[in-house]
Amino acid sequence: STFDDLGLKRELLMGLYLAGFEKPSPIQEESIPPALTGRDILARSKNGTGKTASFLIPTLNNVNVRLPHIQALILVPTRELALQTSQVCKTLGAKIAGLQVMVTTGGTTLRDDILRLQEPVHILVGTPGRILDLGGKGIADLRKCTTFIMDEADKLLSEEFEPVVEQLLQLVPAERQLMMFSATFPVSVKHFSERHMVQPAIINL
Ligand code: AMP
Repeated sequence: STFDDLGLKRELLMGLYLAGFEKPSPIQEESIPPALTGRDILARSKNGTGKTASFLIPTLNNVNVRLPHIQALILVPTRELALQTSQVCKTLGAKIAGLQVMVTTGGTTLRDDILRLQEPVHILVGTPGRILDLGGKGIADLRKCTTFIMDEADKLLSEEFEPVVEQLLQLVPAERQLMMFSATFPVSVKHFSERHMVQPAIINL
């Protein structure tokens, strides 16, 4: 199949083609259609298979830039991955006029984030500790954030991060779409998905 067959908005298709994407990779073919309908997604996939775009494409398609609030949260375990993911998001969304993507991680001043959040943000990418800091203090308003994405979910559910991720999930609406991508499926991922997902589309590549 092609990206044209997926019913994506034109500005997003332009971004994909400009980025050199010609057709969906296998994981994109399987995950994008259910994700576009708002279903929960539980996907096992390695790096290098196109998993980043698997969650960015439906997220970018569903975002409404006319609404000034955070609509999607993308959690990743490291600063480096946060920067990389926000960069891909900006590249694929380059033709979506008015799109605002923000990245935040530990090790930067909270003050810059506070200033940035006085302007609209549609998609927030970052590491759990910093996002909980912002969300818990009401600096980032997550009450209308209906898409919750966990990349490298196995690492996000390490003993260190798991309680933070649980708390973050409490800050978004109860009716939200949860997407988890993970290279491995330890019991932590299995249990978390069983507790928090509703009839997820399960993708195993
Ligand atoms: P990832 O698995 O998300 O780390 O992606 C691996 C690499 O594949 C990245 O450089 C992407 O830009 C690229 N990529 C992902 N999806 C596609 C696609 N459908 N067509 C061409 N390149 C892609």
